[in-house]
Amino acid sequence: MALSYPRRIDLAQIPTPLQFLERASRQWGRGHRLWVKRDDLTGCTLSGNKVRKLEFIAAHAIDNGCDTLITCGGLQSNHCRATAFAGAQLGLDVHLVLRGDAPAENDGNLLLDYLAGARVSCYPAIQYREEIDSLLAQWQAHYAAEGKKALVIPTGGSDGVGVWGYIAACEELSQDFSAAGIAEAHVVTATGSGGTQTGLTLGAALHRLPATIWGVNVCDDEDYFLRKVAQDAADWRQRYSDVPAVEISPRVLDGYVGKGYAAADTAVFELMAELCRLEGLVLDPVYTGKAFSGMVAEIAAGRFEGCKDIVFLHTGGVFGLFPQRAAMQGALRGTR
Ligand SMILES: *Cc1c(COP(=O)(O)O)cnc(C)c1O
Repeated sequence: MALSYPRRIDLAQIPTPLQFLERASRQWGRGHRLWVKRDDLTGCTLSGNKVRKLEFIAAHAIDNGCDTLITCGGLQSNHCRATAFAGAQLGLDVHLVLRGDAPAENDGNLLLDYLAGARVSCYPAIQYREEIDSLLAQWQAHYAAEGKKALVIPTGGSDGVGVWGYIAACEELSQDFSAAGIAEAHVVTATGSGGTQTGLTLGAALHRLPATIWGVNVCDDEDYFLRKVAQDAADWRQRYSDVPAVEISPRVLDGYVGKGYAAADTAVFELMAELCRLEGLVLDPVYTGKAFSGMVAEIAAGRFEGCKDIVFLHTGGVFGLFPQRAAMQGALRGTR
């Protein structure tokens, strides 16, 4: 389908590889072929799924005369770290509004945020939850008073602009499917702010990708994400009035949040360790570990029966592993 994309800035190392997981298929596939789309390889520090969104968001910012990017998330947000690096690479100032008290020692993504020169403001979790919209607006006004223009990017870069990243990625997946001999597949991704799932769901419909897109939610619940995907898609349609009409029905695999956002059960760490030993693939405890574990459970329950191929989207997140080193170490002792 002829689709006119808005301008994007080259930030991602794409196309990323689609790799067959031979040993993981034997271990967990129950007759399915398991594949991984390596979007953890879109870069090193400017990496993961957020980079595909930022290609469009950064172009949007520059084309609207912005010199500053403001965004928000948890202390270990991959999206905030990717934004910090995108800003540094493009000569834009970056201000991160983070949820949680500033830790005594900066680690993982937060250390990288500072390294890339981002300005960081931390707010206690309760205040952040209640006041995030006004905090972002206040900082935006602060820069306006200095004669600067700041774009506020929502959590995870998930809005009508960011979703273009995974709409475009579906064209890449089409080529991957042809090259790999995949006629039809289920695609499984972690979902946290919804934009990746929205982009994939829209993109699959627009590009007639023979795939069913599933989001494994790592926070909130199914209802929340059905609404969020519909909202991001509506924002996309409203901003770009010439896009083709397309029906979507998002699908969420709920039940794998565990103890809460960023808190994974021991079983998730053990599965991460096993996958890494089998395939040399590192997942993270916040997003991809839970999503992979959800995928394995759903395969066992017969969810994907009748379709040979399952593609796991590796959305990155490795830096979030290091602040959780104690839990990972414990799981390694348990599985050796
Ligand atoms: C942000 C993120 C996700 C979730 O993507 P959304 O578009 O926010 O739903 C998944 N995996 C990783 C590693 C992420 O950083």
